Parts: sequence; C-alpha cells; structure tokens
Amino acid sequence: MIEKTTPVVIAGNWKMNHGVKETADYLDKLNHLLSAREDLGRALSEGFVRLILFPPAVHLYIAYIKTEGTPIAIGAQNVHWESKGPFTGEISVSMVTETGGGYALVGHSERRLLFGETVEMTSQKFVACLKGGVTPVLCIGETDEQRSEGQTEAVLSRQFDGAFREIEVDEKTTLHIAYEPVWAIGTGNTATPEDAESACRFIRERLSGRFGSRISRTARILYGGSVKPDNARELLSQKNIDGVLVGGASLDPESFLRIADAALS
Ligand code: PEP
Repeated sequence: MIEKTTPVVIAGNWKMNHGVKETADYLDKLNHLLSAREDLGRALSEGFVRLILFPPAVHLYIAYIKTEGTPIAIGAQNVHWESKGPFTGEISVSMVTETGGGYALVGHSERRLLFGETVEMTSQKFVACLKGGVTPVLCIGETDEQRSEGQTEAVLSRQFDGAFREIEVDEKTTLHIAYEPVWAIGTGNTATPEDAESACRFIRERLSGRFGSRISRTARILYGGSVKPDNARELLSQKNIDGVLVGGASLDPESFLRIADAALS
C-alpha cells in the first residue's frame, strides 16, 4: 500500500444542478450522514481528508450557512479576475470569500470549451484567487482527439505553463491542480488508474521543475472524469493522485460520501 500524503481531497462539482431547496436538503442530509460516521469524521477533523463542494454561485451563501462549523468546505465554480466592474454575469473573488467560499475552480474544460476561457484568463483568475485568499483549483486536460494524436503531455504543459506564467508562490502555498481529461468528463469513460497516474505524475514533475520539490510534494493533484463510488478507491491508491474532482456522482450525498470513504483506506 502506498503511503499517501494528506489531505486526500474529495471535491464535488455540481455544475448547473440543484436549486436552493435541494442545496439545503443535500447539505442537511450530508451533515446527518457524516454525524453517524466516526471514522470519516475523525479523518476530516484531523485533516487527513478534505471535502469540498462547488455548488452554483447563487447557492454559495446557503451552502455556507449549512456547512459553517462542519468539516465541509465550499467553493465557486468560476470567478472573474477583476475585483468589480462592468462584467455582467460574473462574480469576483471577494464575493466568493464574503459568502464563505474558500476555493474556486479555474479553467474547467466546460469553461474553456463552451465559454471561450483562454489560457491567459486562467492565469489571471489563478492570480486573483491567490491574492484574494481563495484557493484556486486549476483544471487541465486533453480532448479525445489530442490524446489520440499523442498530444496529452503537450496540452498539459501548455495549460500548466500558461496558468502559472506570472505566478510566484511561497513554500507555504498548497497548489491544487485537477487532471481532467475532457473525454472522461460526464461520459462514464473513466481514465484507467495507470493513465490517470501517469498524467498526475507528469503534472507533479512539472510542478517540481517550476516551483521546486517542496511545493510539488505538498501540492494536491486530483483526478477528475467519471469518478464513481466503485472506481474511486483504485484511483486514489495511485501514488500521485491526491484526491478526486467529481461531477455527476457528487450530486447525491450518499454517493459523494461513498467516494469519500475510498479515501480512508
Ligand atoms: C467534472 O465536471 O469536473 C467532472 C469530473 O464530471 P464527471 O465526474 O461527471 O465526469
């Protein structure tokens, strides 16, 4: 068994799902289920496992109210890099912190592919988060076509280098990166543990080259793409996979907790 560095991060991206009542009910149920789980509760309070949920931005505040004082952290699915101004439909980093959010996804492939988010934008968002006290979770990953052309590492390098272009971080910063191959997201076509591990190892090596070995060791590298309760354990047992970013299977609190259970072994 591989000795894992901790915390193991179990993150749920709800995307555009759940209304306000469903959010409240979900979190009541998750808190209730967690209260009966001594082992997981201890792992959370001792910092071995971390749970993060990314609800739609309009539900951040109710999510904060429902999770205050619990080990569940919340975050935004997207942020703008400016602090305020004429950016219809956008939210700033300070709006996230004010509503209790501690994390933000940056560069999710749905933002990149459906909403035109560029590598430069991910860099600006990443910097704004770090400056504003929100932990950014940078999402990178290749499309099916890029993988079949043997471009996986080139794409990861481009997205990685672009995002970290202007960033200097001190040794205390814990960087979060999610390897999310586009072909695995929402398709049921989960990467094999070996392929996921190989990409996550590549990202760790890249981190080491860019920021040094300490930052690369403490960084949290997550795998995302059709993670389910029945495949999470094997993915999490890989040396360079420090957590998972879960879409569809995070929408139900029982399924999300079953994935968190996989972090205990
Ligand atoms: C995601 O959207 O980040 C994701 C990993 O989705 P899914 O788990 O549904 O593939």
